[in-house]
Amino acid sequence: MKLLFEISKEEHVCDLLPALDVPETTLPEKERRGTLLPLPQLSEIELSRHYTRLMKRTFGVNTGFYPLGSCTMKYNPRINEDMAALPGFKDVHPLQPEHTVQGCLEVFADTEKAICEITGMNAVTFQPAAGAHGELVGVLLIKAYHESRGDTKRTKIIVPDAAHGTNPASATMAGYTVVNIPSNAEGCVDVEKLREAAGEDTAGLMLTNPNTLGLFDKNILEITKIVHDAGGLNYYDGANLNAVMGIVRPGDMGFDVVHLNIHKTFSTPHGGGGPGSGPVGCKDILREFMPVCHPVEKDGKYTFSNPARTIGSVKAFYGNFLVVARALTYIRTLGADGLRCAATHAVLNANYMQKKLSEYYDVAYKGLCMHEFVLTLQKVKEKTGVTALDVAKALLEYGIHPPTMYFPLIVPEALMIEPAETESKDTMDEAVEIFKKIYDEIRTNPERLHEMPLTTPIRRPDEVGAARNPRLRYVEN
Ligand SMILES: *Cc1c(COP(=O)(O)O)cnc(C)c1O
Repeated sequence: MKLLFEISKEEHVCDLLPALDVPETTLPEKERRGTLLPLPQLSEIELSRHYTRLMKRTFGVNTGFYPLGSCTMKYNPRINEDMAALPGFKDVHPLQPEHTVQGCLEVFADTEKAICEITGMNAVTFQPAAGAHGELVGVLLIKAYHESRGDTKRTKIIVPDAAHGTNPASATMAGYTVVNIPSNAEGCVDVEKLREAAGEDTAGLMLTNPNTLGLFDKNILEITKIVHDAGGLNYYDGANLNAVMGIVRPGDMGFDVVHLNIHKTFSTPHGGGGPGSGPVGCKDILREFMPVCHPVEKDGKYTFSNPARTIGSVKAFYGNFLVVARALTYIRTLGADGLRCAATHAVLNANYMQKKLSEYYDVAYKGLCMHEFVLTLQKVKEKTGVTALDVAKALLEYGIHPPTMYFPLIVPEALMIEPAETESKDTMDEAVEIFKKIYDEIRTNPERLHEMPLTTPIRRPDEVGAARNPRLRYVEN
């Protein structure tokens, strides 16, 4: 497909500028460009067609089934967009005086209340822009806590091997050494190994429950107690909250600090780079260290305050406000019962698909799952040479987005499937048929699977090359 620069034609224009409403002045010579800016020239219809063509070549939740494990690609109700697009939300400026944006502050305050209720925490910051960013902030809160007590020998953060890759990365960025502990045969935390690892040098534990295998750790109270007894704090990676919201709360499981991915659980479109929001909730013991711009209410007026011993600012201004406005809309439309219902349906859907697919593929950890489950194609690969990547590419050919591949790292040839609660039984049945069709092809024509996908706009790009040597700007030749 051609780029805008390539379809550009001289004198094709759509430069409808509004009438000048300020006095006209000329830019001083030294501020002016020496040459014209090489912008593409197109008419409005050309531009419109270009973006419509691009749109048709992408795949999104609105195009088809998107069972991307760990990402919770649920359908995002349109009412969220309508609310976020209200002029009083959309057109505000971050430097506006507080008394002119009381409604926006109220949105922050109400969402904070809701998230405290859902997670069992006492305060929430909205500054972090994504899940990984929230993790870093959470670990920095843990660090500030220990330092405030003069407890400086705590240099380690314990992270189970089933954790999301961002957990060890965030702990490392915060200056900690990561202690990895293996999972047990059931795919959960090996409690004995944790007991051995926890000690005077433990700053804390990072855990997601349900974990990235889609399993709820039944020993969670014992796990968080081991860390507390050793003097550490517990961090809850809330990216998998979709399975448990309205049912159990991290605060009641023994966690002191949590981040949520509101772009996952609370229905903001994601993928392709954001904007997201990774609010961090904490218990009272960490409140005084929270980042700046914490919304508070006093005598019916809202204002931003800076906690007494704040770790400082972790993002410009207040975070991605419109994502928070969407989340509040979503939470309010569903209500407490609705949120719980979303979680139970997410779990039901995952178990339905797991059961159906287990007729054809190996499930890595058998038994009931939560919101997602992991298949392993290790045996298929040994017998036929067909890999998890081949199956993922074949799914693209048949019109569904592939699951997460090769993650979690402890499962060889992994495909991690998360249908989410917004999919119907019919959609899941169609997907199962496609998985079955691929299963039949694995047995009859494995070679063809190495060629997949056959008819998509791009087939097998060099993914490593694209990540290592990205071409980020158009170079005119
Ligand atoms: C998505 C995810 C993260 C990271 O969130 P981002 O918003 O992508 O930074 C962390 N942990 C788990 C388990 C996740 O699924």
